[in-house]
Amino acid sequence: MTDRLYYHDSFLYDFEGEITEVVPAAEINARHGVFLDRTAFYPTSGGQVHDTGWLSPAAGNREDGFRVTEVAEEEDGRVVHYIEADKAPQPGTRILGSVDVARRRDHMQQHSGQHVLSAAFIRLFNMPTVSFHMGEDACSIDLDTPVLQPEQVEEVELFANQIVQENRPVEIRFVTQQAAQDLGLRKPPRADKDELRLIDIQDFDLSACGGTHVGNTGQIGSILLRKTERVRQGWRVEFVCGQRAVKTARRDYITLTEAAAQFSGHIWDVPQQVKKSLEEIRSASKVSEHLLEELAELQAARLLAEADSLNGRKIVVRSYADRDLGFIRLLAQKLTRMETNVVSLMGAGQGQPSLVFAQSKGLPFDMGALLKDTVATCGGKGGGSKDMAQGGVPRGDLLEEAIAYAAAKLNS
Ligand SMILES: [Zn+2]
Repeated sequence: MTDRLYYHDSFLYDFEGEITEVVPAAEINARHGVFLDRTAFYPTSGGQVHDTGWLSPAAGNREDGFRVTEVAEEEDGRVVHYIEADKAPQPGTRILGSVDVARRRDHMQQHSGQHVLSAAFIRLFNMPTVSFHMGEDACSIDLDTPVLQPEQVEEVELFANQIVQENRPVEIRFVTQQAAQDLGLRKPPRADKDELRLIDIQDFDLSACGGTHVGNTGQIGSILLRKTERVRQGWRVEFVCGQRAVKTARRDYITLTEAAAQFSGHIWDVPQQVKKSLEEIRSASKVSEHLLEELAELQAARLLAEADSLNGRKIVVRSYADRDLGFIRLLAQKLTRMETNVVSLMGAGQGQPSLVFAQSKGLPFDMGALLKDTVATCGGKGGGSKDMAQGGVPRGDLLEEAIAYAAAKLNS
């Protein structure tokens, strides 16, 4: 077993130890696994992410140290430090370990914040925490509750921050499994250990935990609750503590300020401004839909008036560089419905260059087959029914040729 120094002191960042075993990397550029007799490095466990830092030879240059990029827990209870090095160090070497302080402090703030938060959810609304996740940006807890109201979230946030401001001592205690029975732990501890390590937030929360924690709740700084979402077993609450909360609030503020600048308004007016803009967009697109409909109808009437009849049928052949698929489809519908003897072969160059072939109901051609045949000549794709078909071609300059091909095919 590795002697875990952080069990007794979360603020111990530098320590001395000895390498007991090295598992050399199997491949070049891979990481070697280093075991020590004692360590202050925290391995990923209990929802908390591992520390990073350095291992340097105690005798010699600190610059000759190895970067510790990951720390994990083995099944036998030992802690393995993964290091990046060309050559693995030798067992028996005395080393100095140093943990990255900023990262550790951040983890302590998040993890202690989680204990306060979970206890606050229990105290105010009797919602137990079933899991804890520490991410790169945000952390989250899952609550076992069928409902979670926004007002409850706000209330818990105020309460949790009050506990932070009261600067209550956070102590580490070791008790036997037996003694723990009567202590009223927030959740039942794992039964596989004789001795339990408890994190005691004075007169507020007592839970079994192997993590690294602040010495006083004031060191958590602040607890900011963010997104809540329904998950399989209850509700997930995202949160950030300490410097992360400050950074997150700053980022939110910058985002809101940028949004407000678009409207030349105050950040608090952004939701109304967005709502107003969306309404304007909606009504503008209704107007334009209406206008396009009218335009298509007028254009269809004109095209029919100009079209020559052949064997009692009118064949309208047109390509529009400045129109899109939606418009020529609309136009084709108008053309083939306004009169009973119309075949319309249309191309549109705007957006994805496209074709729409259509005929009035009852005419004998097969538009789907004609379109498939046509696009096959120029590397396009498409299809449809007997009366209406659409497709795309790779380039706008192929439209004219494609339509001419289809018209010739019809007349043959
Ligand atoms: Zn914990």
